[in-house]
Amino acid sequence: MKKTLSVKSKITILLTLLMAGLAVLLLIFMLFISNSVATQTAMDQLNETVHSNLAYVEVTDRKPVISEGFSYFQNGISTLIYSQKEALIAGQIPVSFQAEIPFENGFIRTVDSTDGQYIVLDLWLASDWQSGVWLRGLMEAPNNESLARNLLFISLIALPIFILLAALGSYFITKRAFQPLDHITATAEAINEAKDLSGRIGLPEGGDEFSRLAADFDQMFERLEHSFEIEKQFTADASHELRTPVSIIKGACEYAEKYDETPEDHAETISMIHRQADKMASLISQLLSMTRMEQGTENTLMERVDLGEFAYTFSQEHFMEHSRLKLNTAQGVFVQANPELLGRLIRNLVENAMKYSDDSSPISLTVAVQNMEATLSVQDFGIGIPHEEQEKIWQRFYQADASRSNENGSGLGLSMVRQIADTHGGYMTLESEPEKGSTFTLHLPLLKVS
Ligand code: ADP
Repeated sequence: MKKTLSVKSKITILLTLLMAGLAVLLLIFMLFISNSVATQTAMDQLNETVHSNLAYVEVTDRKPVISEGFSYFQNGISTLIYSQKEALIAGQIPVSFQAEIPFENGFIRTVDSTDGQYIVLDLWLASDWQSGVWLRGLMEAPNNESLARNLLFISLIALPIFILLAALGSYFITKRAFQPLDHITATAEAINEAKDLSGRIGLPEGGDEFSRLAADFDQMFERLEHSFEIEKQFTADASHELRTPVSIIKGACEYAEKYDETPEDHAETISMIHRQADKMASLISQLLSMTRMEQGTENTLMERVDLGEFAYTFSQEHFMEHSRLKLNTAQGVFVQANPELLGRLIRNLVENAMKYSDDSSPISLTVAVQNMEATLSVQDFGIGIPHEEQEKIWQRFYQADASRSNENGSGLGLSMVRQIADTHGGYMTLESEPEKGSTFTLHLPLLKVS
């Protein structure tokens, strides 16, 4: 596989390049503005010094009187005093300044001289309306070339250090930011390698993207694990339960080949094989239906159902010939239910009641409202269930001891009943006394009548 750079490395490189680019831009900008900033600063300084010197000069009888405090030379600025006729009265012209320039009141300007440039400011100090003296401030203009050279020189040393620091900083920031992702990857890899779906990322809950991603992954693992468990259970259950009828069929075939002589013998064997095949078929369909319900793939479209009316009609259609079934179904008890599943539940309960009670004893099916719940109960007066068995009978394939159980049963019925109740947001209860009988009750949330 082609080895590509990790996202972390890519981000580090990009961030470093971005910062280096910004640093270079900043340098260029500084080079540009440093010229004008230096010149402007020098002009401000010149303006301030000449103006402050102006306060120490007075013109009396057309002559300047200079008081203490006047500075001829300060911070590289020379201040000179000229007569009205532009003859130097006081101060010393810098040696390198050799330009002849006319006087202009209050106007700062740059002047070329033999040795570089000068900044000049002239101020007119009037004594009366037609006489006065000139103050001239002179200052060497900042050398912009050497400033730029210095700046470049410093940058050459600073820039590599800056880029190195930027790269290190970017690396650490990226590494830190990606830490949760590393954790997610490591967990996913561990789950994949160990093929153990019980592992979870378990990042603390937070609002950031990684926490949400981890929570989504955990939820996905949860569902995967649940699905695999169901599949495993289905395979185990199916292979375990189908083994018996298959070996009975095989045995019957071998026996028939060896010993069956008359057509009656054959007919008996075939009917036994038929019974076992029927049992297998019903087992497989029950298992499939339960698995689908667990996985949530069974078509469980819910609709508004009048529980009493439904139980009544269903019983009339399916148990018409059983006169011992007594119906006591209140009307107008509405629930949200899937009629197909509800029918399966009623059939299982009623058939069990018939299987585990005397043919002559009555069975009652009651629909009512109790404690704000819709209830459907099936009561028999049969063999009952010992207390220690009452929790276990809901488990898959659990059959109370063989002497009591019906050989046609599979032990799946009640487990399916409980699952149907769950799917409807309800639950099952059982009241039973050995040798007296049992009452199985489905409790469902009542649907508000609008
Ligand atoms: P089965 O196919 O064996 O009837 P079920 O899951 O329907 O499987 O029931 C599990 C076990 O619960 C049965 O084997 C039986 O021992 C017991 N049982 C179920 N219903 C009744 C009942 N109405 N009276 C007594 N025992 C019952």
